[in-house]
Amino acid sequence: MATCKECKNFFPLTDNPAKGDCVQRVVDPRQAYYKSKPVNAEDDAASCPSFQKRS
Ligand code: SF4
Repeated sequence: MATCKECKNFFPLTDNPAKGDCVQRVVDPRQAYYKSKPVNAEDDAASCPSFQKRS
């Protein structure tokens, strides 16, 4: 089962790697920006449409 920690968009907190931020680049017609939201390393990524396997 894939989890957030296996995803390229997951950036663990240095003081607690069980938690981190999901950071995604968003491109719309006028601008590109990053949005971030707090996630847990073990969150299920199976249903996430933005999951990208870490290489
Ligand atoms: S929420 Fe989705 S995009 Fe964000 S880190 Fe988890 S699997 Fe990756």
